Amino acid sequence: MCGIVGAVAQRDVAEILVEGLRRLEYRGYDSAGLAIVETRSDGASQLKRLRELGKVQALADALNVQPLTGGTGIAHTRWATHGEPSQRNAHPHVSGDIVVVHNGIIENHESLRAQLQAKGYHFSSDTDTEVIAHLVHYHRQHTDSLLSALQATLKELRGAYGTVLMDARDPERLVVARSGSPLVIGLGVGENFIASDQLALLPVTRRFLYLEEGDVAEVTRREVRIFDAQGGSVERAELQSDVTHDAGDKGEYRHHMLKEIHEQPKAITDTLEGRITDSGVVVEAFGNSARGIFEKVEHIQLIACGTSYHAGMVARYWFEALAGVSCDIEIASEFRYRKSVVRPNSLLITLSQSGETADTLAALRVAKDIGFMSSLAVCNVASSSLVRESDLAFMTRAGAEIGVASTKAFTTQLAALLMLVMAIGRCRNTMTVETELELVQALRALPGHLAETLSLAGEIEMLAEDFAEKQHSLFLGRGEQYPIAMEGALKLKEISYIHAEAYAAGELKHGPLALIDAEMPIIVVAPNNDLLEKLKSNVEEVRARGGLLYVFADQEADFNSAANMKVIQVPHVPAAIAPIVYTLPLQLLSYYVALIKGTDVDQPRNLAKSVTVE
Ligand code: GLU
Repeated sequence: MCGIVGAVAQRDVAEILVEGLRRLEYRGYDSAGLAIVETRSDGASQLKRLRELGKVQALADALNVQPLTGGTGIAHTRWATHGEPSQRNAHPHVSGDIVVVHNGIIENHESLRAQLQAKGYHFSSDTDTEVIAHLVHYHRQHTDSLLSALQATLKELRGAYGTVLMDARDPERLVVARSGSPLVIGLGVGENFIASDQLALLPVTRRFLYLEEGDVAEVTRREVRIFDAQGGSVERAELQSDVTHDAGDKGEYRHHMLKEIHEQPKAITDTLEGRITDSGVVVEAFGNSARGIFEKVEHIQLIACGTSYHAGMVARYWFEALAGVSCDIEIASEFRYRKSVVRPNSLLITLSQSGETADTLAALRVAKDIGFMSSLAVCNVASSSLVRESDLAFMTRAGAEIGVASTKAFTTQLAALLMLVMAIGRCRNTMTVETELELVQALRALPGHLAETLSLAGEIEMLAEDFAEKQHSLFLGRGEQYPIAMEGALKLKEISYIHAEAYAAGELKHGPLALIDAEMPIIVVAPNNDLLEKLKSNVEEVRARGGLLYVFADQEADFNSAANMKVIQVPHVPAAIAPIVYTLPLQLLSYYVALIKGTDVDQPRNLAKSVTVE
């Protein structure tokens, strides 16, 4: 789930490994470690390992005290799934000369552990990962190579893994396996690398081979050999990285999250580019076969997790209201384990920033077996599993998102989904030309509206002081602003650790009104739409009970600050794009509250960026 970096080179690799881990820090993790094989002057090799609880900087500090030399090494940032975050549970794990790092979960680790203990293996950690080290060690004694030992081991593992191993007795070789957790091989000149994300390797190479599901590979300084799940030798295309800027750079901003919030006008401009014309959306932007599929669509099933789920919830309102097509949305981890009834001509749409979200990917695989007409992924990473395994894909062009709490990936998903609504409405003849034109104009104006909305930052920063001491909060919205209220609440939870709940405003009197008192701030999202009058009634219900209100309202909505009610005026925008615009003040609010609380904004506690485990 977290970060892996490996290198086999003629130079010392410790610094390359640490820099790689730093570049993966944004994923969130709890400990870091590395192992390097040092070749002594007498030719003998010796394994050196360092592991630290906490940040990569702690590992770097330890390396300063005890420098490690050597050209073959593997490193890891761990996000604990089995066993508490601690030095002894940090990776790499070792069994004799075998060293392993692993992302993911070995589901049958308990039975494997018992079998290995019966064979005399001693466990020094509580992790599921350690079984890999011992199993490979065991098989190494009965096979002729590290690669064969790994292949034998994989037959016994159930679960998800991206794993890299080395053998201290055979130091110029790494072996790797990918199943459910991404790995990429970086090609150098006389040296090669491996990582869970190309970002880690950008300082050393731009040439990559992406491993596919089930692939196993052996990487030496001069050679990369790849085998598929059946053991047959395969070639994987060499790709040049298209990451142009250094995503690790925060520029003038204090946090990646703040930078990414401010990048949204540009990210939306990039996402729209070449996809809309003066008259409407370019259907082919969704793929050459998109038109044929969209013409037949009678139902849409959206699947996602977390923030992407909120984007899908907004899209459900749009699909039914604007394109007249029935639409359901479900959380991926629920959908994948539930027996569901598939309606005729249903299109499955998955949403994921990374395209490696384990539950979403699994849901896509389930959907393939139960009769969906076709699948489409909305994703930010072109090389991801989700994109490769879907019939159609549409890329958001948010650029690398480093902050764990998603911002620009969410708003670009919304823009992408609005274009998809237009494309499907057009192909099914259920959207009028006038509506499509209005939507094009609204989308064109969107980056400008977002830039204008960002100028509220100063006002919101002052507001944030009211929240710093609070334990709880409520977010209210109606219609397609209800999921925006949910997203606002999620952001506040994620980075400021304040308990926040979102309600459809009409639900207030069915229970949550009991919570209202002066200690409970209530944030209301109030664009100028046909539900405004209803929302105003809900606001009065709260005021009448002494609640403290913060209302993000359209300039033209006639909301005015009063006792117990602060109104923040948001630029007037067309109704269709209002959910995208209102997201920004809520992102800023959570950011400034977190800043006052002094939390780790870019890497909030307990969270990871791309959730590649269940
Ligand atoms: N399941 C492993 C552990 O808890 C790997 C976690 C990870 O993906 O970082 O150590």
